[in-house]
Amino acid sequence: MIKNRLESYAQVLFNESMRNHTTYRIGGDVDYYVYPKDLISLGKVIDILNEENIPFYVMGRGSNVLFGDKTFHGAIISLDKYINNFYFEEDGTILAEAGCSIIALSVEAMKRSLTGMEWASGIPGSVGGCLYMNAGAYNSNMANIVQEVCVLRDRKMEWIRVEDCEFSYRHSIFQKHRDWSILAVRMKLEKGDAQEINDLMDSRRKRRMDAQPLDRPCAGSVFRNPAQIPAWRLVEQMGFRGYCVGGAQVSEKHCNFIINANNTATAQDVLNLIRLIQERAKEEYNIELITEVEQLNW
Ligand code: FAD
Repeated sequence: MIKNRLESYAQVLFNESMRNHTTYRIGGDVDYYVYPKDLISLGKVIDILNEENIPFYVMGRGSNVLFGDKTFHGAIISLDKYINNFYFEEDGTILAEAGCSIIALSVEAMKRSLTGMEWASGIPGSVGGCLYMNAGAYNSNMANIVQEVCVLRDRKMEWIRVEDCEFSYRHSIFQKHRDWSILAVRMKLEKGDAQEINDLMDSRRKRRMDAQPLDRPCAGSVFRNPAQIPAWRLVEQMGFRGYCVGGAQVSEKHCNFIINANNTATAQDVLNLIRLIQERAKEEYNIELITEVEQLNW
């Protein structure tokens, strides 16, 4: 029986609401929410799901996902509970498993006087999610520090060199291969001054708190910046600041954030608001606004 098979390798929550696992606090139920105990267990869990023809997604911390409202008759595999170890070498090399929090890792790097991850100190994602998205801020991103990424594909563990990861602005090769699971990364940082690193991280955290609606459920920037104009400026220029569709609202504080204002928004509300903004951007400025937030289960 599927339940018993999965529970041999993982902790499993049944009929679990995705509201509990996305920073938007939005999403329908999922049949199986699965925390594999380690990398071997993850491989077995994926084998079992494939054998039983159960669709699945690997997710990190749900901070870049708009998960649809309907029930997902499948599994979400979460790596953040158990597959989150990291190791530092003397020369600034870091090996980190995909479920590790990027904020926790940047703090550990700072404690070891390693510079290169200051930009990541306010991004509430996992290493796996940050690789998938090539997350970044302040003109830096994952691609700048990654050396190799370890993936599980066709039941084999393989290391992919950074030059083969096709990293560009919020893009990676992993977005083209949803059947690969990102397992780990090898990164390289440089020696720096712990106090300076700490001060930079503090000032950036403060900037975020001043500029972003961090007291409301959201998933960070909704749109990628088009070449012509920063997305927030375009959204503001079109008069959308504070605009609501159902429970979804363009943040008063930052126009490229859509918030779940009173915890009443559905995924459909958020999507309707996104589409409205996209249509207006196309009509009025001939600009195609592309979403940064990922849609799952639609
Ligand atoms: P998830 O949201 O869980 O997943 C994102 C996608 O990656 C999904 O398609 C998922 O299936 C896939 N995925 C995740 N892990 C794996 C894996 N191991 N193997 C295969 N696929 C996987 N982003 C930025 O780039 N810069 C910012 O400054 C920034 N600021 C933010 C601020 C706030 C307040 C919030 C809420 C979000 C912000 N984000 C930002 C967005 C988000 O944190 C990043 O995109 C982050 O990289 C997502 O990581 P995650 O672990 O939450 O991924």
